[in-house]
This record gives sequence, C-alpha cells and structure tokens, in this order.
Amino acid sequence: MYFHIVTIFPEMFRAITNYGVIGRAFKKKRIIINFFNPRDFTNKKYKSIDDRPYGGGPGMLMSFEPLYAAIQKAKSLEKNTKVIYLSPQGIKFKQKEIKYLLNNKKIIFICGRYKGIDQRIINHQVDEEWSIGDYILTGGELAAMNIIDATSRLIPGVIEKTESIEEDSFSNRFFDYPNYTRPQTIKNMTVPSILLSGHHKNIRIWRLKEAIGKTWMKRPDILKNISLTKEEENLLNEFKNNFYNQNKKP
Ligand code: SAM
Repeated sequence: MYFHIVTIFPEMFRAITNYGVIGRAFKKKRIIINFFNPRDFTNKKYKSIDDRPYGGGPGMLMSFEPLYAAIQKAKSLEKNTKVIYLSPQGIKFKQKEIKYLLNNKKIIFICGRYKGIDQRIINHQVDEEWSIGDYILTGGELAAMNIIDATSRLIPGVIEKTESIEEDSFSNRFFDYPNYTRPQTIKNMTVPSILLSGHHKNIRIWRLKEAIGKTWMKRPDILKNISLTKEEENLLNEFKNNFYNQNKKP
C-alpha cells in the first residue's frame, strides 16, 4: 500500500514509522510512505510556503505554487492515485473509508496548514476531502497519521493474529467484548468465572452477549442498523433483563 504525503512537516510521521506494528510494517516495506514537501518546491520567485488571503482578513494560506508543484510530483510517480485533502469540512473518516483505501491502494494525502489551502487546488486537484472529526487541528498531519494507522493494521500480514482484528469494535458488527488478563483477583476485583471455565461454547455465548449488550448501552444507534439473528436477539434480551434487574430502584 502506497501513501504519498504532501506535507511541510514530514518529520512528524516518525510517530508512526518508528513505533509499534505500523513501524514494523513500514520497515518491512509492507506500507510505503513517500513525502513531498512544498518547501522543496519553492524557488527564487516563490520562496515562502504561506501567503495572505485575497480579500484580507486574519491568517495565512499555504502558497499555491509550491503546494501545486508538490502535488504534481506525487501524481507523476504513479497512475490512478486518489488525491485526498484532509479537511475538517470533509466526509467523516470511518471504517467504511478504510475499505475504500484498501481497495485503492495508492493514495496522496494533502496536509493543510495555517488557514488551509487555495480553493482552486481543492476544486481541480483533489478527488475527495476527508475529516477525522468535528474539531479543528492545526494541520492535516495528525489526521493523515490517524488514517494511515487505522488502515495499515488491516493490511494482511501487518497484524499477525487476524482473529483479534475481526473482534475489534467497528470491524465486527458489535463492540469488542470485555477483556481480562492476569491476575485473576486484584484489589478485590475478580475475572468473570465463565472465562476461567475452559468451556469454549459458553465462553463464546458470554462474549457475544456482552458484545451486543455493550453496543446497546454505549451506541444504540449502531444496533438499530444491524439485523440480529435469533440467538443474538435472545442474548440482547437476556442482557437487558439483567441490566434492568440490577438497576431497579428499591
Ligand atoms: N480554515 C479551515 C476551515 O475552517 O475549514 C481550517 C484550517 S486548519 C487550522 C489547518 C489544516 O488542518 C487544514 O487545512 C486541514 O488540512 C487540517 N485539519 C484541521 N482539522 C481537521 C480535521 N478535523 N480533519 C482533517 N484535517 C483537519
């Protein structure tokens, strides 16, 4: 998978290329990340990488020419690349967009800075605008890293035990079930006994019930869009009954 990043701060990406499973995938070249720094495309005429907006007002924009040249360089390396501008005004990045990236495989991310980028670049060079949430970052780099991290972990071979990915919240239809590790008892808190029973069928049912129940409690909107099997429906009802019994007012 190729990520071409247009950024004035390529060093920031060490946060993902140097650490953890994504860092290992990068070193093994399972993911390729190339940088195109608008600063490298300035010349005598266009020295700076920021400029004042027409019409006045506070703040600066990224200069058109070096940004445009950096995008052209990134586009020239490969055919059929998708150009995505990280922007708070874009479509919200979700698990669905990860699938889209995994299918496209060659992506150019444009990381804005300052007040953003010239609208003509958005209109004529960008295929899509993507946001990571309804808040304003100082630049697109953290958004790009967020997306690269979430996408790369689903590239086959990046995470060895794919079963654990399949159980992740948003990969599966429900949130992940509650997990416990050693010690069995600590500070008067114990692990649910079913998990110590070794009874695989019962463990599977308990986990499924907890996963559906957690989703119902935390994000009922997600459950509304899922059609449940008979077994899942029964488990949800059991979970709800337990919940209401435990929370009954005396
Ligand atoms: N003036 C812009 C606006 O209101 O839409 C915001 C500019 S922001 C300070 C600078 C850059 O950070 C943007 O060009 C964009 O690349 C990036 N950015 C900020 N918030 C983002 C978000 N929620 N998702 C993705 N990128 C974001």
